[in-house]
Parts: sequence; C-alpha cells; structure tokens
Amino acid sequence: MKEKYAILVVEDSPTQALQLQFLLEAEGYAVTLARDGREGLSLLEKQAFSIVITDWVMPEMDGIELCRAIRAQMDNDYIYLFLVTAKSSKEEIVRGLEGGADDYLVKPVEPAELVARLATARRVLALEQALKERNREISRLLHTDHLTKVFNRNYLDEHLAVACKQARRYGRALTVVICDIDHFKKVNDSYGHLIGDEVLKEIARTLNETIRFGVDWVARYGGEEFVVVLPETDSDGAFPVCERMRRVIADLRFADGRGGDFSVTASFGLAVLPAAAKAGAVSGYDLIGLADTCLYRAKNEGRNRLVGAVYE
Ligand code: GH3
Ligand code: MG
Ligand code: MG
Ligand code: MG
Repeated sequence: MKEKYAILVVEDSPTQALQLQFLLEAEGYAVTLARDGREGLSLLEKQAFSIVITDWVMPEMDGIELCRAIRAQMDNDYIYLFLVTAKSSKEEIVRGLEGGADDYLVKPVEPAELVARLATARRVLALEQALKERNREISRLLHTDHLTKVFNRNYLDEHLAVACKQARRYGRALTVVICDIDHFKKVNDSYGHLIGDEVLKEIARTLNETIRFGVDWVARYGGEEFVVVLPETDSDGAFPVCERMRRVIADLRFADGRGGDFSVTASFGLAVLPAAAKAGAVSGYDLIGLADTCLYRAKNEGRNRLVGAVYE
C-alpha cells in the first residue's frame, strides 16, 4: 500500500534529512531528499509526490514559500504538506497552516507521532482519490447514452459547439452527419421494443467502430438518430466513411427472436463545413439543421443512401 506514497523531504540539514529518511524508509515509504524549497519544486515538476515534508527555515526558498508555490499549482493531484519546524509558538504554526500546510511537526520529530500523522495523511489522500474517481464516473455518466453507450445529447450540445469554434478558428473542415435508421418503427412493431433496442446498440457500435478513434465521435441525437462528428474532414473524406457505415449497417443481421433474422438500413445527411468556408460564425445547430435537410432528402429519394451539402 505505502509504496504508492512517494515522499519528498525538503531539509537543509543533512543530519536531520537522513534521520527522517531512515525513519520513513523503515515505515515502507519511498523517500527523495531536497536541500531547499527551490530544489524541492524542481523535483516536484519532474516526479509525482503525494506527501511533502518540508523544513521551515532554509536558504533559498523556505518552507512557507514552498507550501505557497505548491498550492498555487492547482492542476496536479493533491499533495499533503507537512511543515517541520523548531518554532512552536502558536502564531508561527498558524502562519504555516495559512501558507498551505496541512499539518506541522515540531523538532525534534517524535517517530511515533510522525508515523501516526502520516496515517492521517494517507487517509486524506485516499479520500481525495476516491472523490476524484467518483467525479470522473459522474462526468462519464452525464455524457453517456444509457442504452447505446455512445455520447448523449448533453455531450453533443457541449462538444459540437467546441468542434465548430475550433474549425472556424484554425480554418479546418468539419463534417456533421445525421444517421437515421429507416422504418425503425416497423422493427419495433414486428419484433418488439427489446429487439429494437438491440438494433440501436449494434448500430451505435458499428458507427463507433467505423470512425477514427479519439478524433471523430458519435452521439445519440434522439430515438433512432445518431450524430457523427468528423473534425478536419471535408466531403472527400466524409462520403467514403459514411458510405462504409451505410454498407456495414445494411449487412448486419439481427436475430428476430423466432429463429430467423432480419436486416435494417439507414439514411445519412451530411453537412460539410469546408476548410475555407466563406461563412463567419457557424453554430453546431446550423450544421445539424443542414444535415437534417439532407437527411430529409435521402428519405424522400428512397432511403438507404447518403445526401450531403456544403455549408456556404
Ligand atoms: P423513417 O425511415 O422515416 O426514419 O421511419 P422510422 O420508422 O424510422 O421513423 P419514426 O420517427 O416514425 O420512428 C422512430 C421510431 O423509433 C419510433 C420509436 O418508437 C422508436 N424508438 C425511439 N427510441 C427508441 C428506443 O430507445 N428503443 C426502441 N426500441 N425504439 C425506439
Ligand atoms: Mg533548516
Ligand atoms: Mg427519426
Ligand atoms: Mg427512422
């Protein structure tokens, strides 16, 4: 358990540094030493430490300055800070805590006390990790469609706007696709909603598997409609990708629950924002609107096909 807690000891007295190192290593912690705050900070830039034990009075950067500098960098994982000091006056301890220290130790450090306080530090760090993990999970749930596991409408609303802004700012192309399953109501009516749900899941998976991982993305827009966002992609790039999606979907076979199988088709509307678009600001829903118009035409022209238009 403890090897994941790497401790940085910042202490200008070599004797005291070694004493602490000896004690901490005997407790199973991995210890790195720094002679002052400046050296401590530069080590923190290169390596992750979850606990820092720093002396107060040191040349160069003292312990309080080091605490402030660490707390100013809010982007990393939480670092639990101990200030070790010969000072034991209440006002000075308050100053240390105000400087960002979580706890303090008064010299000479009592081994049993240090061990007990480190256990507290580990409890706080474990809580912080659990909270972060929970937040990641909440954010994942907030952005995922429960049935199909692709992104949901929330995610689409937030990230399509970002994709549009980036395309305009850097003069890159962007294609937004709406994929709508043909006569899906008939699937439900003929085979039941549960089988309909399986079709939705399989089609979402197919769309996800056809796109470039980590660049393109798929969101469920509504019941049996998906939006596929293809950044840095113009008509030349988008049509072959969507044609592949159309073909793979048409080739899927679904068990009908009575020993047979059936297939479905889908229609695609593509809105292409070209790299050198004349239009000024364009919103995600301008592109969705255009893709929807194209989809309507694809349906009218017989379904199971692609219709695209360039956003002017
Ligand atoms: P078109 O080819 O014109 O798109 O016809 P369609 O039947 O696919 O279109 P319509 O919009 O009339 O019907 C969509 C159907 O999708 C109706 C609705 O019951 C079904 N649906 C929406 N969400 C779900 C879902 O989560 N699960 C299932 N099984 N069906 C759904
Ligand atoms: Mg000192
Ligand atoms: Mg529809
Ligand atoms: Mg449909």
